[in-house]
Amino acid sequence: MPLRAIKMLVIEDDPQIRLFLRRVLDIHGATIIDAEDGQSGYRLIERENPDVVLLDLGLPDIDGLKLFESIRAKFTVPVIVMSARSDESTIVEALDMGVEDFVTKPFGVDELMARVRAAMRRKLVGEGREQIFKNRGLEVDLASRSVKRDGQEIRLSPKEYDLMKQLTLSAGKVLTHRQLMGAVWPGDTDIQYLRIYIRQIRQKIEPNPDQPSLIITEPGVGYRLMAE
Ligand code: CA
Repeated sequence: MPLRAIKMLVIEDDPQIRLFLRRVLDIHGATIIDAEDGQSGYRLIERENPDVVLLDLGLPDIDGLKLFESIRAKFTVPVIVMSARSDESTIVEALDMGVEDFVTKPFGVDELMARVRAAMRRKLVGEGREQIFKNRGLEVDLASRSVKRDGQEIRLSPKEYDLMKQLTLSAGKVLTHRQLMGAVWPGDTDIQYLRIYIRQIRQKIEPNPDQPSLIITEPGVGYRLMAE
């Protein structure tokens, strides 16, 4: 889905950020609507049916996480949250509650666009239109359980594949430690396993495992498989 076909709702009380987003998203040809508080933002979702919502977690009238809960109770629209870099625990909480992704302020246009593109791409995966992930020589085919690097089949252990599959299903999106542990090692909370397996997979798939460009660490939050 090209960005120009996207209708985006920005819920943000800071007028400068709203203006900035309106300008950059306009340049990319997206349709922008915005709201300066949570209540009017919620009403706009009902009325305008946006493709994606950018939600500031620090709003004047309602806690951002509470607003997200109300949105999710009624709508399936992907929500990307905006937050301060120091607000790591709130970001993790929001992600564990099911927000799509996050950006920390101040963020760049490229970073934001990558998050939005990834969210739109996952909508297509969710609708079953895409089965194969490709990026930087890595190819993951979930239908045939095949993982290749530069055309060569890579052998992953069953747990490594499970982890790779979770990252691929959410390609471009950050997954928290808890989300990955819950999917691959249900009931276990020791993220040391996760670190070890991520390291093993990197050895197999990364062009340079010491400087990962495919599976990125989001410090304090989790991991992200980079999409094209
Ligand atoms: Ca704010």
